[in-house]
Amino acid sequence: MSKWNKNWVEVRRERFNPAPMSQQILKPRVRGFICITSHPEGCAAHVREQIAHVRSRKPLQDGPKSVLVIGASTGYGLASRIAAAFGSGAATMGVFFERNGEGDKPGSPGWYNTAGFHAEAKKAGLKAISFNGDAFSAEMKAQVIAGIKSKMPNGKVDLVVYSLASPRRTAPDGVTYKSTLKPTGAPFHAKNLDTDRKVVNDVTLETANAEEIAHTVKVMGGEDWEMWMEQMNQAGVLAHGCQTVAYSYIGPEVTWPIYKDGTIGKAKEDLERAGNKIDALMKLHRGRAFVSVNKAVVTQASSAIPVVPLYVSLLFKIMKAKGNHEGCIEQIQRLFEKQMYNGNALDFDDKGRVRLDDWEMLPEIQKAVFDVWPKVTTETLDQYGDFAGYQSDFLKNFGFGLTGVDYDAATEVERPIEDA
Ligand code: NAD
Repeated sequence: MSKWNKNWVEVRRERFNPAPMSQQILKPRVRGFICITSHPEGCAAHVREQIAHVRSRKPLQDGPKSVLVIGASTGYGLASRIAAAFGSGAATMGVFFERNGEGDKPGSPGWYNTAGFHAEAKKAGLKAISFNGDAFSAEMKAQVIAGIKSKMPNGKVDLVVYSLASPRRTAPDGVTYKSTLKPTGAPFHAKNLDTDRKVVNDVTLETANAEEIAHTVKVMGGEDWEMWMEQMNQAGVLAHGCQTVAYSYIGPEVTWPIYKDGTIGKAKEDLERAGNKIDALMKLHRGRAFVSVNKAVVTQASSAIPVVPLYVSLLFKIMKAKGNHEGCIEQIQRLFEKQMYNGNALDFDDKGRVRLDDWEMLPEIQKAVFDVWPKVTTETLDQYGDFAGYQSDFLKNFGFGLTGVDYDAATEVERPIEDA
């Protein structure tokens, strides 16, 4: 190639393709309640932050040693995986539905979180196995069960965490059901926060019809949790004393029409029904099944629920001032440390649920939220709420805003999840 040609090729490459396709400078690109970009090193740093919290606590006594987390890549499921691995030295198997980066497109945060988790698990000598695909499918259940038999300690699990949040499910009948977030009583008119534009506005949500309620129950109810546990029981992969937990939410009265009494609340009622049925099954193994009602936190799932981001912004300010604010990792660490392990007993409410939302629901916290609820407007949001905290948690979920990460440097978007 002549000198002239060579230069011309180089100039073209520089102009049109400055770095290899998979090297990108990644900045947050927020669209409504989702960020369409995510940062691999930022997500890994977020995982390390959660590991550091677990390591700052004493190791669990009689903690889990072989754990399956269904919905393990973000939010409460990821926190459960981290707390089990780094607080109890557990081998963990995670199931999730995520996407690696490809070409100029970054992957999903759950993929990068898992890549970061595997890297840290490997360094710590902890076994980590992950399955990416549809947890609702028969194929995934069969693969995971085979994986438990061949790869997990003694071929069994002693804790199963069910932490899926999904907008749709293809059920064994072949029908794809879609979940909706709607009231089931009268249409709901309420204050809301447009988190994209930082505007407090009003929202009216129309009532769900019977089909929408039934479909939401199919997706977010307990049927799939039951199927997982029944199939694992039949396959003989549940260890003596095995426990299983699924997560729920109740929240304050201002959100009841859209949450507790809405389509999602009907699904959560079904989750509790399933929990009771699974509990009977787990008794055969001297184990148990229960639902834990967790605190409102910022995750991909909760950001999508109308009214909730406004409530969360106000709640965070009040709980931070009181000194009892928690995120996913603090909640799950408390569940493991104070309720499930260390020789403790589960503290059930009158409906047999564990209440990790106890501090959120303290009368003085709820009263403080209610006092400011009528006063909050676009102009007074920063005075009464912690929108900066909401936004920072939101962006952290996509790997942005973490200290020690160079966000101006191009980074490889395609990341392997390495065996650990
Ligand atoms: P999330 O969106 O952060 O996580 C959902 C997980 O489910 C991810 O790992 C995702 O990959 C996985 N997933 C979704 N569809 C899947 C599929 N088809 N196959 C395999 N994996 C799939 O959600 P989250 O907020 O942590 O919610 C988890 C549970 O906690 C839910 O039951 C939710 O109702 C409950 N909860 C959440 C809050 C909150 O404020 N976020 C509060 C209390 C309870």
